[in-house]
Amino acid sequence: MSKSLLITGGAGFIGSAVVRHLIHNTDYRVVNLDRLTYAGNLDSVAEVSNSSRYAFEQVDIRDRRELDRVFREHRPAGVMHLAAESHVDRSIEGPADFIDTNIVGTYTLLEASRAYWNELEGQSKADFRYHHISTDEVYGSLGETGLFTEETPYAPNSPYSASKAASDHLVRAWHHTYGLPVVTSNCSNNYGPYQFPEKLIPHMILNALDGKPLPIYGDGSNIRDWLYVDDHVRALVRIFERGRLGENYNVGGHNERTNLEVVNTLCDLLNELLPESVHRPHRKLISFVKDRPGHDRRYGMDINKVRQELGWRPEWEFEAGLKMTVNWYLENGPWVRGAVGRETAIRMVA
Ligand code: NAD
Repeated sequence: MSKSLLITGGAGFIGSAVVRHLIHNTDYRVVNLDRLTYAGNLDSVAEVSNSSRYAFEQVDIRDRRELDRVFREHRPAGVMHLAAESHVDRSIEGPADFIDTNIVGTYTLLEASRAYWNELEGQSKADFRYHHISTDEVYGSLGETGLFTEETPYAPNSPYSASKAASDHLVRAWHHTYGLPVVTSNCSNNYGPYQFPEKLIPHMILNALDGKPLPIYGDGSNIRDWLYVDDHVRALVRIFERGRLGENYNVGGHNERTNLEVVNTLCDLLNELLPESVHRPHRKLISFVKDRPGHDRRYGMDINKVRQELGWRPEWEFEAGLKMTVNWYLENGPWVRGAVGRETAIRMVA
C-alpha cells in the first residue's frame, strides 16, 4: 500500500496546492488536517477529494488528543506542516492567534509527532520525516544589496514573522534535543490560484475588477521576491523527500519586484485579458496609504543550496505566472465569491 503523508493546513493556499499535486502526480495517500479557519476552504481541494487516496480531518493543531488519534488512525510516513496564521496585517491587529497557532500549535504537533515516531520501529522509523514550512520573513529586512542565505541570523520584525521564527526554533530544538528527523524550508512570497483575497495579488485583482481603490503601503517601493505556488510545491516535495535532516533550505523565485511594479503589472494584465468593453484605466485606482508599522524594505533569497543539493529551480517567470493567476481569478468567480462571502472584512495588503 502507498505511504500516507499528513499535510497540515491542506485547505489553505499553499497546502491545497500540495494536496492537489500529491494526489495528481504521486501515489502517496494524503491526510489533509485543517481546522478550517477563515483562510481554509475545502473547495480548493474539491478536484481531488473523491480520490480513494485522500482523507480530510477537521482538527486544530493545538488539540493534542485529536492529533494523537489522527496519527494512530492514519499511520503517516511523514508530516508536512503548513497550518498557520499567515497574514501580517492580522498579526499586527491581533497577535494572539499567531502565538497560539504558529508557536503553541507547532509545539503540540511536534510533541504528537515525536510520540508517534518514538513508537515506530525498523524502516518506518528510519524513513519518518517532519517537514516544517516557513517564510523568508524570519530573516527581517535586507538593504539595497545582498540576499538571505541559510546562515543569515533571524531578525523578525512583525508578530507573524516572530511567531514563525519561534516555530522554526522549536523544530530545530526538537531535532537536536530529541532526534526528531526534521527538515525546514523558508520561502519567499507565493502567488497563484486559490490564494485568499486578503493577500496583495488577489486583493488588487478583485478591487480593480470592482473599480475600487488599490491601496499600496508607503510609496510602493518595498520589494518582495515572488514565487509561483506550483514551483514552491515542487520544491517542498523535493525537500521533504531528499533534504538533509536537520537542515534549512531557502526557496525563492529570483523575481524581486516593488509592490508598485506588481500592481502596475496587474493593472496592465487586466486590460490585456478583459474584453475591451470593460477596460478601465486601472492604474488610476492606485492610492498610497500610511505605511505598515515594522514594514520590511526588501526580501530576496539566495537559493544556491536547494539548487545545488536538490536540483530544484523556479520555472515560472513572474509575468507569465501572474498572467495565469489573473486568468484564474477571472475564471473562478464561484471560488472567489465563496471565499469573500465567508469573510466580509477583507483586509489590506500582504
Ligand atoms: P493560508 O493562510 O492560506 O492557509 C493556512 C491554513 O492553515 C488554512 O487552511 C487554515 O484553516 C489552517 N489553519 C490555521 N490555523 C490552524 C490550526 N490551529 N489548526 C489547523 N489548521 C489551521 O496560508 P498559506 O499562504 O497557504 O501558507 C502556508 C504555510 O506556508 C504557512 O506556514 C506560511 O507561514 C508559509 N509560507 C507562506 C508563504 C506565502 O507567501 N503565502 C510564503 C512562505 C511561507
